[in-house]
Amino acid sequence: MDFKFTDAQIAFRKEVADFLQDEISKGLWKPACDAWIQGQDPSFTKRVAAKGWIGLSWPKELGGQGRSAVDRMIMTEEMLRYGAPAACHWFADRQIGNAVIHYGTDAQKKEWLPIIMRGEAYVGLGLSEPDAASDLASIKTKATETEDGFIIDGQKVWTSCAKHMNYIYLVARTDPTQPKHRGISEFLFSTQLPGVTLTPTVDITGSEAWCETFLDQVKVPKSALIGTINKGFYQVVNQLDFERAGLERLMGNYPLYEALIKYCKETKRHGQPLCKDGSVRNKLTQLQVEYEVGRLLTYRVALVIDEGRAPNTEASMAKAYSTAFEQHLAMLAMDILGLYGSLVEESKYEVISGMAPASFLASKGYSLQAGTSEILRNVFAQRGLGLPA
Ligand SMILES: Cc1cc2nc3c(=O)[nH]c(=O)nc-3n(C[C@H](O)[C@H](O)[C@H](O)COP(=O)(O)OP(=O)(O)OC[C@H]3O[C@@H](n4cnc5c(N)ncnc54)[C@H](O)[C@@H]3O)c2cc1C
Repeated sequence: MDFKFTDAQIAFRKEVADFLQDEISKGLWKPACDAWIQGQDPSFTKRVAAKGWIGLSWPKELGGQGRSAVDRMIMTEEMLRYGAPAACHWFADRQIGNAVIHYGTDAQKKEWLPIIMRGEAYVGLGLSEPDAASDLASIKTKATETEDGFIIDGQKVWTSCAKHMNYIYLVARTDPTQPKHRGISEFLFSTQLPGVTLTPTVDITGSEAWCETFLDQVKVPKSALIGTINKGFYQVVNQLDFERAGLERLMGNYPLYEALIKYCKETKRHGQPLCKDGSVRNKLTQLQVEYEVGRLLTYRVALVIDEGRAPNTEASMAKAYSTAFEQHLAMLAMDILGLYGSLVEESKYEVISGMAPASFLASKGYSLQAGTSEILRNVFAQRGLGLPA
């Protein structure tokens, strides 16, 4: 395996980095932790769309750029490095567009892909419910077929894109008489339809980046069904690989990581820079090793996608490993920064822009969202190592 990037890939990375640096220098936004999931900025999404970077790896005949999964990973790596507010388009670009490409009709491809690529579809992910998330097949939200469409009733929790969400992707039970994995279907529709209510979820950090979605007799057209009726559970497994596979699981807090290393180089304790203190140095080195391993595991996912294979075990492994890195980073930041590390940006005594407390709190959710680490270990134990269930 050749671990080197090509000259074209190196040039593309620079193009993305130059664009982001220019945006920061114009004061359009400030780098932030978790901005890929919490930084909801429709104007940034529009500017990214204008560059042709939404749908970068989608086929040219469908309006995409036909670039490789590795190219897309390079682009997202730079977005994460600079903490860019990409949340409005992230989910549609990462997985919903792919679901439409894989399972949608020609008419659905014509309907959905252009609005996603124009940066106008802020699609929330509606999988989890109050009593079903790890065990997705237990969902209770139901979609009842009518002559001209479906009527959807139920509730979703932790739906991404929250107040900006103008479309929702969800799974609902279409046949309650079938075994639970078999009677589920995928839907994509506007949140402006009557009967959809979005209620913000205030998370442990105080953020409202997610919401609860209530669906009360929501009438959706037949064209909202993506793929084959009652086969949604099997379709979504493919989509989850894309959800789990990205560098966002490793680099969500890259601004904190970079700032922590700078702080350790510049701050003196007992007359010498912190990074020369043996115990700090060891911990930072361990962290750096974990980061590099996580990066390689994640690039491996892109290589598997480019080979045309489903990165099922690779994505599970990369996500479980990378979120553990993110949690170690947040804990180490709190450890090294001491009491000052608990102060938020508004405090005059804050250090490294008060990033550490929110990262520390948010990091608790990383090993839950998009599949818990226990579930992911089950996936690679059974499908990767062939261990018994
Ligand atoms: C910050 C955040 C963002 C999220 N974003 C979204 C989103 O955008 N869209 C969406 O639909 N959902 C989202 N979720 C929901 C997330 O997918 C679920 O929280 C997650 O899948 C776990 O489900 P649960 O919370 O119901 O826990 P449960 O499924 O009840 O699990 C509880 C515990 O039991 C363990 N467990 C469960 N089953 C097994 C098993 N078979 N073997 C071993 N251990 C097991 C789990 O690992 C966990 O530790 C988000 C969650 C968080 C915290």
